[in-house]
Amino acid sequence: MKRSCKTCTAIKRKPRRNWANVEVVYVPIYRPFCPRCGSEAFEHIRGEDNGDNSTTERVVCRDCSEPYKIVRELSDSELPDLGNG
Ligand SMILES: [Zn+2]
Repeated sequence: MKRSCKTCTAIKRKPRRNWANVEVVYVPIYRPFCPRCGSEAFEHIRGEDNGDNSTTERVVCRDCSEPYKIVRELSDSELPDLGNG
């Protein structure tokens, strides 16, 4: 018995995308650090989505055991200036 799925067939038929010459968009990521001792090592306890393009993570410093929260938020003030040519 031969099974065929229309969706799978459609995906397989898509031409392979060539990734060699595509543009590269760099998004900076800042390394969080402990507010008490400055260590970058922490243990992730839990994270939650704030629903406004930001997430809050509860973490505990691996070096001094200080608990703190890391808020990751989407920023569009840091977009690179691509120029208008
Ligand atoms: Zn610490």
